[in-house]
Amino acid sequence: MASYRAVMSPNEFVELLGDKESRVEAIRQLMGGVDARELRRAVVAEDVFQALVRGTRNESSVVRWWSVQLLDHCPDERAYRAVEPLLDDPVDRVRRNAVHALGCRGCKPAVAAGLDSTVIEKLKSVAVSDPNPKVRHEAAAALLRPDL
Ligand SMILES: [Zn+2]
Repeated sequence: MASYRAVMSPNEFVELLGDKESRVEAIRQLMGGVDARELRRAVVAEDVFQALVRGTRNESSVVRWWSVQLLDHCPDERAYRAVEPLLDDPVDRVRRNAVHALGCRGCKPAVAAGLDSTVIEKLKSVAVSDPNPKVRHEAAAALLRPDL
């Protein structure tokens, strides 16, 4: 699949995140690696970044989940803005992953800046009001991190 990059666009690879069979190769094509160590050093091209942002609005919750997952590795403040609306996603596990990505520094050590206050307020409301206890717990845990 190495030569597919020439004929397939980042948007098409993002679509493939919804397909179990193709997902690993799609991640490799988008991010240049698949394991945690590789992803921590990932340099995300602008067209890939834009495709992942669009992926957060995909009709498939699997694609939205993976788009959040990969945006978690983008050392770019715009990634937070793209992920924030998914705190209101109808699917529990998508909201939970959005909370993780917003609270996480481990996946993107290059980002030093904390979250802006509106996102922190939103996380506080998720921690109290989200209908799913796992999502509330994840938000509460994120808010306890000293570097947030
Ligand atoms: Zn993370």
